Amino acid sequence: MSALLEVTQLKKYFPIRKGILGKQVGAVKAVDGVSFNIKKGETLGIVGESGCGKSTTGRAILRLIEPTEGEILFNGTDIRSLKPEELRRFRTHMQIVFQDPFASLDPKWTIQKILEEPIRTHMKLPEAEVKNKVANLLEVVGLSSYHAQRYPHEFSGGQRQRIGIARALTLNPEFIVCDEPVSALDVSIQSQVLNLMRDLQDQFSLTYMFISHDLSVVQFISTQVGVMYLGRMVELASTKELFREPLHPYTKALMSAVPVPDPDAPKNQIVLSGDVPNPSSPPPGCTFHTRCPMAKEICRCEAPVWREVFPEHFLACHLY
Ligand code: SF4
Ligand code: MG
Repeated sequence: MSALLEVTQLKKYFPIRKGILGKQVGAVKAVDGVSFNIKKGETLGIVGESGCGKSTTGRAILRLIEPTEGEILFNGTDIRSLKPEELRRFRTHMQIVFQDPFASLDPKWTIQKILEEPIRTHMKLPEAEVKNKVANLLEVVGLSSYHAQRYPHEFSGGQRQRIGIARALTLNPEFIVCDEPVSALDVSIQSQVLNLMRDLQDQFSLTYMFISHDLSVVQFISTQVGVMYLGRMVELASTKELFREPLHPYTKALMSAVPVPDPDAPKNQIVLSGDVPNPSSPPPGCTFHTRCPMAKEICRCEAPVWREVFPEHFLACHLY
């Protein structure tokens, strides 16, 4: 199947300014040359520690923040070339679900009003149809129209996330960036919301980019997984292949840290030394070399090239 989203060499640098004149003295390379494709109806999971650029990547693709460089093609349309009005219309195809969708919403609005707002702004529908649509949306996410007259604070975390998902679905999008949507929820509620998201994906032919720091969540929901470290993607493969045979030392370390249910199973945990370096002054060469147990001399001076080592298995590491 063809790619719905094609991202090439995406970069987002945030300038660091100093003094009263705000002279730029450097840049935080939050996303530094990331490339991937997502096929229609599939899910690309993005994993990595906090601050690795996962959320910035998701926001830059939707142009919620402006990318510094790179190409983003959505169904062949170059998103970066869209003018503000075109972008506004285009946004109906692409939505985002946040960790806490209500953090940015007016607590004085009912759920009805929250869900009506995007419909009224973007679609010219008769009044009765707007009401119908809201009732339908609540139903598809496992709530009922009985909830429509309530306020955000009256809902549990899991219900709030269902409403956040309903809100993302209001304009019939094709693509949704899911930014840690279950990270704040209890484990039992997590699986309910993840199952709901999978059902909705089938029902509405949705394509997801699913951001999480939790490998087991990503393994459950994704068809393809990208691992990010310090603003770069270090490995990308189908979920099956990546979990069967991770190649990058960082991917291996992340996977070895996932608790094994069987207490007698051998524990080969790879403990990474040191902290994630500051993204405003990343180490030279392979940015992972300061923590990599396999680092060689070349890793300290030469950045490994991002390449396809097996069909659809991409990697940036000197070992291969
Ligand atoms: Fe480790 Fe070198 Fe590979 Fe980087 S390039 S991950 S430092 S072995
Ligand atoms: Mg984040």
